[in-house]
Amino acid sequence: MIRPNRLIGLCCGHHIPKKRLLHGSRCMQNNQTSSNYSIEANIRTTSTGLVSQKLKVPSFKKPENPEVNEGKEFEGFVVQEVSEIPEFRLWAYRLHHRATGAQYLHIQRDDTNNAFSVGFRTTPNNSTGLPHILEHTTLCGSLCFPCRDPFFKMLNRSLATFMNAMTGPDYTIYPFATQNVQDYRNLMSVYLDAVFNPQLRESDFRQEGWRLEHENLNDPTSPIIIKGVVFNEMKGVFSENQSLFEQKLLNNILPGHTYGFVSGGDPLVIPNLTYNDLKAFHAQYYCPSNSRFYSYGNFPFVGHLKYINDNYLSNFKNTPPKDGRNTSVPSENRWSAERHKHITCRPDHMAADLTKQSTIAISVLCSDITDIQETFELQVLSQLLVQGPNSAFYKTLVEPNIGAGFAPVTGYESQTKDTIFTVGLQGVNPKDFGEVLKRYDETLTKVLNEGFDEKHIEGVLHGIELNIKHQSADFGLGLLFGLSSLWNHDGDLVKALKVEDQIYLLRRSLKDNPQHLQDKVLKYMKENTHRLILTMTPDEDYEAKQAQAEQELLQTKLAALSQQERAVLFQQALKLRDEQEKAEDTSSLPTLLMKDLKKEIDLTSVKDVDVSSIPIQVCVQPTNGMTYFRGIVNIKELNSELKTLVPLFCQVATKMGTQRHSYRELDQLVQLKTGGVSLSGHIADDTMETFSYEEGILFASYCLDRNVKDMFMLWSELLNEGSFSDMKRFETLVRVTAADLINGIADMGQHYAISSAASLVNPASYRKELASGLSYVGKMKEIAQMSDLTPVLAQIRQISETVFNKKHLRCAVNLSSDTENAVLKEMEVFLGSLQGTAGLPLLKTQDPNYYLEKSAVRGFHHILPIPVNFAAKSLSTVYYCHSHFPSLRIMARLITSKFLHPHIREKGGAYGSGLSLSPSGVLNFYSYRDPNSAATFDIFDQASEWVSQNSFTDKDIEEAKLGVFQTVDAPIPPGSKGMNKFLYGIHDFLLQMHRSALMSVTRQDIIEVAETYLGQKSQSKCGRALLGPKNEVLHLRKAENWEFLQQDI
Ligand SMILES: [Zn+2]
Repeated sequence: MIRPNRLIGLCCGHHIPKKRLLHGSRCMQNNQTSSNYSIEANIRTTSTGLVSQKLKVPSFKKPENPEVNEGKEFEGFVVQEVSEIPEFRLWAYRLHHRATGAQYLHIQRDDTNNAFSVGFRTTPNNSTGLPHILEHTTLCGSLCFPCRDPFFKMLNRSLATFMNAMTGPDYTIYPFATQNVQDYRNLMSVYLDAVFNPQLRESDFRQEGWRLEHENLNDPTSPIIIKGVVFNEMKGVFSENQSLFEQKLLNNILPGHTYGFVSGGDPLVIPNLTYNDLKAFHAQYYCPSNSRFYSYGNFPFVGHLKYINDNYLSNFKNTPPKDGRNTSVPSENRWSAERHKHITCRPDHMAADLTKQSTIAISVLCSDITDIQETFELQVLSQLLVQGPNSAFYKTLVEPNIGAGFAPVTGYESQTKDTIFTVGLQGVNPKDFGEVLKRYDETLTKVLNEGFDEKHIEGVLHGIELNIKHQSADFGLGLLFGLSSLWNHDGDLVKALKVEDQIYLLRRSLKDNPQHLQDKVLKYMKENTHRLILTMTPDEDYEAKQAQAEQELLQTKLAALSQQERAVLFQQALKLRDEQEKAEDTSSLPTLLMKDLKKEIDLTSVKDVDVSSIPIQVCVQPTNGMTYFRGIVNIKELNSELKTLVPLFCQVATKMGTQRHSYRELDQLVQLKTGGVSLSGHIADDTMETFSYEEGILFASYCLDRNVKDMFMLWSELLNEGSFSDMKRFETLVRVTAADLINGIADMGQHYAISSAASLVNPASYRKELASGLSYVGKMKEIAQMSDLTPVLAQIRQISETVFNKKHLRCAVNLSSDTENAVLKEMEVFLGSLQGTAGLPLLKTQDPNYYLEKSAVRGFHHILPIPVNFAAKSLSTVYYCHSHFPSLRIMARLITSKFLHPHIREKGGAYGSGLSLSPSGVLNFYSYRDPNSAATFDIFDQASEWVSQNSFTDKDIEEAKLGVFQTVDAPIPPGSKGMNKFLYGIHDFLLQMHRSALMSVTRQDIIEVAETYLGQKSQSKCGRALLGPKNEVLHLRKAENWEFLQQDI
């Protein structure tokens, strides 16, 4: 899997905030989707980029609250604005709470995936991580829900499609989404009580923030070290050089106020935070006058208002922040001259070219975030300048081999009060910094002189139009994330939603003044003196210096301790552990019950037709004027050497151009006619057999109905006339792909650890490891280092010639009923143009001797220069349709929440942990950003014993089932309906059987499968992986037969 690129999609003209600066405190959402937990999850995360995008296309309805008019008052809230946004088929209601000034935005839309959020502006004035640690600790128990960690407990009592809390540079939000109205109320009550009435106990602060504690809790002579969930989390975040770079960029271009600090927390500053600071920060910022409520979906919202007012807001008066300081963020004073800043980072011995490990970025401060039109136009401008092979900076910075590609900070960022445009290049030799700066200025001059190609502008605007129509399963959350920053600075939310007005105004400006966009380039880029040049080079001693700084900090803390205080530390640690281990009363928490779930699945009607002898699955859906196309070619018959190049092939095949069009022309066509064309590896676990799978290449695209003919012509051209001769282009793509992969290792640590461990126990997982695990990263690095890529390009061409034909092909199309005939006709032309004759569309690859081949090594230790660990242990069980599979699935969930979470996260201080089950039945234990390693493996090994002790309650089983159904019942957008069948061969009747079986799993079933698959016998057949710093302890674990792999050689 390629690390997802930054989200460039426009959401109401605003960026979805960048992931790294947003610290989602609870990683369970990641866990659910990033691990190959289930068929359902696989479908949503298939790398086509299509699937995660679109849900419920609403029929446009009048709001059901016609009496909610401007000026009227409901439940203490005054309606300020009611506005229809036709392009998104929604109604926006803006309200404010009369007594406290709290703000409320409701988005009424015919969408069942209702969302809610409560948020606060949080503007720290130091880097102790106050807002982030507060976000964690508010979720540790509250007045009405006094149990430990109600937030995590709700995960098991709810059908939430999303639950999390996030800290941005200047705000904190607590969002969730669910399709069940009772669940919505339950979650709302827990969230609101958490933020307004948290217990904020000192022990919560110590657990989530930081604490001094003996390394071994039971041994007062063991060294005292710094522990804490956020402390470890932030060490993990900054172990990735590009995260560090991004943080420093923000701190340095906006040094004047809150952005000069690390809102997530600097690990070397976090231990200066006191418990009293935390309580004071809560009192100051989490008050109604500083709060923003958001609701979205088809549930009536006046009831939400009543609940909020009656239970929370009516208890408060209009309380300004306590120290009288306004929380609003001032505009940055503009500089009169550019500034330079240099930082160092950890060397990356994985880099393909060791002399090229530095990063440089040029950032300029742009418009105020509340200037909606300007923000929108800068977004368009940014795409024209840095996105795709036709963009100006791509041509002058990425294509010439100066660096390895754009740094992730590249682009327009509208999260902060003053918005920022950045062009950054990673994988640069420091001696070329000057060259980059020179080219930056030359590029701007060229753009100012030559302007932008009209087709290029049209392509970008078409992309925006497509994004409006092509909405996601989590549309409501997408809006929230897109609007949060603007709202945080009191911008006009309704105006921001009116994207068509913004497009119209831009078109008119361009008509009146063809130089319109160049004028912006002149103003914001060329003549802007608020310009930061940030450079970063590796320092061989970086790690040692960081470790030393941490040691010194620790020593200062220890020196200040008296003997007596040390004794207290020892006692506190034991007390914290006792608290963590204590069985507790969770009866105060609301919960859904299994009986609230529907027994039957929603059937998806699909029909199978043959066009030009190729099987096509047709799924008629309310697609809102869009057509979704997918095809799979089977590659079983490809030789194994070529198979290892398939991931690279998928990366480049749509980007090399064709015999008719250069790659630049092709990119323009794709942008003008489609939402993108993509190829990706398809390795589908067999649902009927353990050591069997399907391997293929999935191609996917979507377009507005009016462009269907063009879309299929494009595919026909790509598949029949692909050009694999432009060596320079190929080199660029290889370089950029390799650099992205290598830079993403720490970020993707959990995925890589699981992939590596699972590759030891299952052939499909082994194949996936080669295609998307560290093996693939290594392979790409090797290729990037080759002096002559001619033989590789020849092999890529050979793959194209071998697989792009009718022989082993099947297709699927999701469309509206009125376009069916027209689309099938275009498909006939397309399929008719392909070579070969149709044979078997689906072949299975079997590998029963897999164990024999891989039996020697049972663990891979990937030694990486990162300060935290990612651990994984995998076991092979049974396939999806086996009668034990549903019990295993419930068991995995039970172990995750009742055994692993308390031991590995709460006590061990890891950011997350879990046990997932893949469709072919691989159980994967994992921990995420873990300060421990060997101890974590011991906990993995104890899971079976824990189950057999039978100490879980019936309620625990019920909760595990609910947890599983969160995934099973997650909404699937119209563009992705029917994919269970098309991709995995899972028909509705199998889904129904699986559903019924999950519901009837018993305690005895769980104990039996745990004994059978996790018990002593299984231990010899499991695989393990550890990513992290070199760990000699593994040598002592002889039975596990570890192989040490130095990843930096
Ligand atoms: Zn966090």
